[in-house]
Amino acid sequence: MFGSPGSGKGTQAKLLTRRLGIPHISTGDMLRERVQRDRELEASVASVMHAGALAPDQLVNRMVEERLGQGDAAKGFVLDGYPRTLAQAEELCHWLDERGVREVVIYLAVDYNSIIARLTGRRQCPRCGTLYNLVSQPPKVDMQCDRDGEALVIRDDDSETVIRERLDAYGRQTRPVLEFLRRAGRRVEEVAAGSDSPEQVFERICGIVANHDRA
Ligand code: ADP
Repeated sequence: MFGSPGSGKGTQAKLLTRRLGIPHISTGDMLRERVQRDRELEASVASVMHAGALAPDQLVNRMVEERLGQGDAAKGFVLDGYPRTLAQAEELCHWLDERGVREVVIYLAVDYNSIIARLTGRRQCPRCGTLYNLVSQPPKVDMQCDRDGEALVIRDDDSETVIRERLDAYGRQTRPVLEFLRRAGRRVEEVAAGSDSPEQVFERICGIVANHDRA
């Protein structure tokens, strides 16, 4: 699942894994989890992530390769937030080719203004992790989690300066990956994901994946 921060990759990846019964592999979630467990990593990687920059390729590549080797990924998987640099894309293509695994890259295309509106409106429950959006998915009671009533917070990397940095990192390091994948003859499918509901976008993605299975 490929796209800018705020394009809805996480939401679509979760819907797709549920539909297909294969694991959702989110490098953002994996990194956050590792940083919480590992003090050494916390010292080096957490600050990079909080600033909106990218974690080192070597660390991310190793982490993903380990994860893809686990049994539940043998029948397929949905990657969310990976590859995010050219070095990661090269590594992944190599991994896929070695095993004869066919990919389809779903590029969620969203205009810049919608991205900004989505990212600045994002709120999270600090207790259960549920994500909300003040514009598109507000909580039932103002600023309170629907599940446990906890006061919602802005995730560290959703502050305005960090959002700008994350979008910069996307433009500089991740966007070129799309061109790389296209030139390498990988299957890239663009899906308009700016104005329709997540369910409508999801139906489009399911159509592409069904075609891919038939091919
Ligand atoms: P978003 O896509 O909304 O920026 P993620 O949860 O995917 O959020 O990523 C959060 C942060 O984790 C990124 O800003 C970056 O610091 C780090 N990260 C996630 N995936 C990668 C990756 N493949 N390579 C390097 N850093 C990553």
